[in-house]
Amino acid sequence: MSGHVFSRATAAGPPRVSHARGVQMFDEEGRRYLDAAGGAIVVGVGHGRGEVVAAMAEQAGAVAYAHGSVFTSEVLETYALELAEVLPVDDPRVYPVSGGSEAVETALKMARAYHLARGEDRSVVIGRVGAYHGNSRGALDVSGRPSLRRPYEPWLGHARHTSTPYEYRCPFPDSHPVGCGARQAEALEELITSVGPGQVAAFIAEPVAGAALGACVPPDDYWPAVAEVCRRHGVLVIADEVMTGFGRTGAWFGSDHWGLRPDLLTAGKGASSGYWPLGLAVASGPVHEAISTAGFVHGFTHSHHQVGAATGLAVLRRLREERLVEASADRGAQLAAEIVRSLGAHPNVGDVRGRGLLVGVEFVADRESREPFDRSLRVTERVVAAARELGLLVYSSTGCADGSRGDLVLLGPPLVVTSEEVTEIVDLLTRAV
Ligand code: PMP
Repeated sequence: MSGHVFSRATAAGPPRVSHARGVQMFDEEGRRYLDAAGGAIVVGVGHGRGEVVAAMAEQAGAVAYAHGSVFTSEVLETYALELAEVLPVDDPRVYPVSGGSEAVETALKMARAYHLARGEDRSVVIGRVGAYHGNSRGALDVSGRPSLRRPYEPWLGHARHTSTPYEYRCPFPDSHPVGCGARQAEALEELITSVGPGQVAAFIAEPVAGAALGACVPPDDYWPAVAEVCRRHGVLVIADEVMTGFGRTGAWFGSDHWGLRPDLLTAGKGASSGYWPLGLAVASGPVHEAISTAGFVHGFTHSHHQVGAATGLAVLRRLREERLVEASADRGAQLAAEIVRSLGAHPNVGDVRGRGLLVGVEFVADRESREPFDRSLRVTERVVAAARELGLLVYSSTGCADGSRGDLVLLGPPLVVTSEEVTEIVDLLTRAV
C-alpha cells in the first residue's frame, strides 16, 4: 500500500509529535522540547489552550462552514469589531483568509483594485531586498529572496525591490546611524520616480523585518519618512504583519512602535496562534470604499471561515485578558538581555537584536570585520540541530539583507513563556552555540 506524508523535514526520520502544553512540546518517545520558535513564530497564547479549543469546537458544532458570499455571522462580525480595537488601520475592514500568503495575495490585489477604481493603472509593487512575504506567486514576487525566487523564474514582472533597514550592516554607512532611515526613504523615492509617475501601486514591508532578516528593527526615522514618501506619491503602504502582529514585538502590531497607519495590513501566524489556518487582509476604510464600490473580484473557498473567526476571536481575547502583549515586551527584554549576557562576548556572535519576543542572533566568522561565515559551513543549520539535540527549538533565519548570505537564528517563544523558561532557553542556546 502506498500513501505517504509529503515530508517537509530535511533530516531523515523527524520525530512524531505527540502533545504540547504552554511552551513545551513532546514527541512520541516522551522527549521534551522547549519551543522557543513558537513553531514558525506562530504560537502566541501557548500550546494546549482549552479555552481556544472549546471555542473552536462550539463553532464547528454550530456551523463549521458557510460560504462567505452567502452568509455572514455573529462570530465573524464580533471578531471584526474586536479586531478594530487593536488594529493600527483607520476604519479597518477585515478579510479573513487561510494564512499569510493568501493575506498578502489579497492585499496585493486590493492595492491594484484601489488604483483601478480611481482610474489609475498602477501595477508595480515595491518590496525590499531580503524580505519574505509568502510562497505563492504574487507574494514571492514581492519578496526579495533570490534563492527562493530563482527556481520559479520567470516572474510576473510587477515587482521592484529597495533596501531594508539593517543596522548591523547598514546599506547607507555614510549616513549611519543618524539619518539612515531618512536616507532609505530617499532611496525608495528615487526608485518610485525611476519606475515612473503613476506606476507604483504599493510598497510592502514588515515593520520589523522577521523571518528573512532575523528581527531587524529599523531606525526610528525610517517609518515616518517612508510613509511620507508613499503618501506624497500616492503609493499605498502595505504593512506585512504576518510575523510581527498580535503582540509578537511587544506591541499589538509592529506598526504601533512608530505610529504607522498602513493602508493595508496583512496578518496570520499569531492571529490564530496556530490552532487554525488563519490569515487576515485588512483594508482601511477609504481603500475598502473604493474597491467595494468598483466590485472586488476575489475570494477563496475557505475565506471568512466560521471556525477560523471563532479561533481568532478566542485567541484575541486570551491575548487581551492575560495581558500577553505587555508580557511579550517584558519577557522579550529579559530574553535579549540574557542572550547578550551569556553570548555577547562569544567570538562568533555578531549581533543580538529584536523587539519583544522576536529576537534574532546573527553569527559571524569575525566579530571585528563582521564577515559572515561561508554558507557551505551551514552554521545556522548546525546551531538549530545542536539546539534540537538539547531539546530546544529555535527558528532558522538564514539570509541577511543582501538576500543570500548570513547566519541567523530567530527566537519567538509563545508569549506565555515564563521568566524561568526564558532563562532555560538561553542556557540551552548557549550550550548549542
Ligand atoms: N509574510 C511574512 C512576513 C511571513 O513571515 C510569512 C511566513 N513566514 C508569510 C508572509 C507567509 O505566511 P504563510 O506561510 O502563512 O503563507
